[in-house]
Amino acid sequence: MLGKKVWARLLGVEKAVIEGVVYDEEANAVVASVRPARGQRLRCGICQRRCGRYDAGEGRRRWRTLDLGELKAYLEADAPRVSCPQHGVVVAHVPWARHGAGHTRSFDDQVAWLAVHTSRTAVTEVMRIAWRTVGAICARVAAERRAAVQPFAALRRIGIDEISYKRGHRYITIVVDHDTGRLIWARPGHDEPTLVAFFELLGQERCRRIAFVSCDQAEWIDRTLRRYCPRAIRCADPFHVVRWATDALDEVRRQTWNAARRSGLVRDAKQLKRARYALWKAAENLTARQRGHLAQIQRTNRTLYRAYLLKEQLREVFRHRGTAALRLLEAWLSWARRCRIPSFIELAKRIARHREQIEATLVHGLSNALVESVNTRIRLLTRLAFGFRNPEALIGLAMLKLGGYCPPLPGHPSPTHG
Ligand SMILES: [Zn+2]
Repeated sequence: MLGKKVWARLLGVEKAVIEGVVYDEEANAVVASVRPARGQRLRCGICQRRCGRYDAGEGRRRWRTLDLGELKAYLEADAPRVSCPQHGVVVAHVPWARHGAGHTRSFDDQVAWLAVHTSRTAVTEVMRIAWRTVGAICARVAAERRAAVQPFAALRRIGIDEISYKRGHRYITIVVDHDTGRLIWARPGHDEPTLVAFFELLGQERCRRIAFVSCDQAEWIDRTLRRYCPRAIRCADPFHVVRWATDALDEVRRQTWNAARRSGLVRDAKQLKRARYALWKAAENLTARQRGHLAQIQRTNRTLYRAYLLKEQLREVFRHRGTAALRLLEAWLSWARRCRIPSFIELAKRIARHREQIEATLVHGLSNALVESVNTRIRLLTRLAFGFRNPEALIGLAMLKLGGYCPPLPGHPSPTHG
């Protein structure tokens, strides 16, 4: 029989006493009876203040912890309720698990780490839990880690964006820090009260220090900014501007495709369909095959190819700063105005309308690479989030992945921040 110290280490239990360990045949699992160490008993599950015992709650309960070899493992303990002056009657705190969780801290942390670093299948198979459970765990871990740090200390340049999920039916509002490229805040909703919550959390003093805000042109964002950061310079979000161009390009592609089908050019139509992704994608990320599709278009469809070049050139504008960037924008506008492609002539007008804010972006050097990558990664996450029960799970996963809140693997040293 292993000593109790070894069991405690094996099960990742701290500040607790192991009373005994058995093999539960029915559950085919190892079950360890535990109790909180003396100083850890009868504390509020929420604030951990010492409280009076209220009752025995629902008696003994189990928390799933990390597997021992091939076997699932559980901790089992009493779960009495206490009466907290602030939180009322709540289940008492246990040192091995977060409040309200059915899994231990080390189990939660490992799930969070795997969710950030591996695939959906890997997490659910390795940990033997459902994807929606992964979501609940991500929400829990992220909320705790966010509460423990102050992520708003040195905010100077921020980006505000709305992300749709659930097939475009629901939205979350996000805020990113342009200087670190991190996601710093997210909340369900896309309206004034949602964004007001962020600025209220930030407080007057830190609102004043925000110098640049990138965002789209929504009226509710405008109103909120006028109220909280009236002096901040408004910049167009390069990601949105480039997306306008991608939309314009797609319109050209669809028209060309329809024309080809109508005139019975089956091969041309097929070719255009195949080239869809090559046209959308950033030129530097194209595969050899996709480059081939593009070359074909260059030979067979000049207008579409010109539209593609216009899109890529607009992306190029945002890779530069200052006067160089302003000159490129000017050149792009005059090219687009004369290009004889209706959707791009429209785009040129739209860009001219927002020119002031686009120029602010170029002058103040918001890195599009950073903004684009955070935006793209969040949009990828929304696809992953199908099967999560609520937006908090999506936000939790996003915060772990893009906010720098991922915990280290249990028993591994925390990565040093630098
Ligand atoms: Zn309390």
